[in-house]
Amino acid sequence: MSQAELVLRSTRVVTPEGTRAASVAVAGGTITAVLPYDAPVPEGARLEDVGDHVVLPGLVDTHVHVNDPGRTEWEGFWTATRAAAAGGITTLVDMPLNSIPPTTTVDHLRVKREVAAAKAHIDVGFWGGALPDNVKDLRPLHEAGVFGFKAFLSPSGVDEFPHLDQEQLARSLAEIAAFDGLLIVHAEDPHHLAAAPQQGGPKYSHFLASRPRDAEDTAIATLLAQAKRFNARVHVLHLSSSDALPLIAEARADGVRVTVETCPHYLTLTAEEVPDGASEFKCCPPIREAANQDLLWQALADGTIDCVVTDHSPSTADLKTDDFATAWGGIAGLQLSLPAMWTKARERGLGLEDIVRWMSAHTARQVGLDGRKGAIAAGHDADFAVLAPDETFTVDPAALQHRNRVTAYAGKTLYGVVKSTWLRGERIVADGAFTDPKGQLLTRT
Ligand SMILES: [Zn+2]
Repeated sequence: MSQAELVLRSTRVVTPEGTRAASVAVAGGTITAVLPYDAPVPEGARLEDVGDHVVLPGLVDTHVHVNDPGRTEWEGFWTATRAAAAGGITTLVDMPLNSIPPTTTVDHLRVKREVAAAKAHIDVGFWGGALPDNVKDLRPLHEAGVFGFKAFLSPSGVDEFPHLDQEQLARSLAEIAAFDGLLIVHAEDPHHLAAAPQQGGPKYSHFLASRPRDAEDTAIATLLAQAKRFNARVHVLHLSSSDALPLIAEARADGVRVTVETCPHYLTLTAEEVPDGASEFKCCPPIREAANQDLLWQALADGTIDCVVTDHSPSTADLKTDDFATAWGGIAGLQLSLPAMWTKARERGLGLEDIVRWMSAHTARQVGLDGRKGAIAAGHDADFAVLAPDETFTVDPAALQHRNRVTAYAGKTLYGVVKSTWLRGERIVADGAFTDPKGQLLTRT
């Protein structure tokens, strides 16, 4: 019997080898062994038997806009990490923009880390940002431990985070490739966006027409060509257009080092259901039609898309006006990503193993944290989400831990209630009650 301080026992533990009855032994915050269900509990160890609730590895969300410091009225580390914990997420990686300062220099990273340290209920890492004028800052940021660099190919929505033109993209990518870093990209082409009809107003169909698929497809094609040119590692953020999938599959077959993520809102919400004026559904690129969504699910199944992440990007409620052209673009989904995804996955005959692959194992791998996060296996951090997969709840915005209780999922009945979340062997939330913050700040290793 392995050494253990804690044994977490369930009839359904999702491991890399499949779901089985098991007893997970934990010591010093690390999983020491995954034992048979009825293995004797070592002397001195505490047994937590969660019965038939499913034990998943804590989810790893590599795309979250925490906005702290600078826009903490939109979201902050305290509220974001509590919401994440309540939703079964035990690691998040913060995007470099919407906070002030943005994470674009080592000094700015230091500010962000100081702010996050005391408030993090879960583990937190950071992306850096690639701007037109900070190429010299990229290597120092890489060495300071950011997981990679985010760039926009079209306007980002905030003035302090300008986008890269083609030449600037090439310059940043050449530098990042020189130290084999990772560039993660918001891929919409500004010329295609400018050429699209910009009618504004409350009609969702007008908004959808203003952010056409070919804007995404063109930007992705540009990115893939540049990645090939520099043999650089690139990642397509929040893929919405299924038309880009063949381009990505071809590039990969051609040896281009590209990974891809999509988001719960593209997989669970459809353009057809968005009410006019309902800008809680606004994000860029936009939620598209049901037929597009089917192809995204297919691409997850066949491996063209690697990861599912929230792109949690809230604002205050007053910025969510009923004019889709000017309302803040971003969907708040941190606390609801697991049940939203599970509800649709089960309709499609998919399992929690699939959810874990897309939202924990592959996201951990995306940031080089595999080996430590993303699996219930010996040697990994003892991070768990305990889920009642057959229980349902109706989304009440007032019950969310997000700073702003605006959500596109309001009123939806979802499967999957997170009963408790564990970080390094400690239960950090159970039935809505939180411990003091126990998260650590993570750096690229
Ligand atoms: Zn984002």
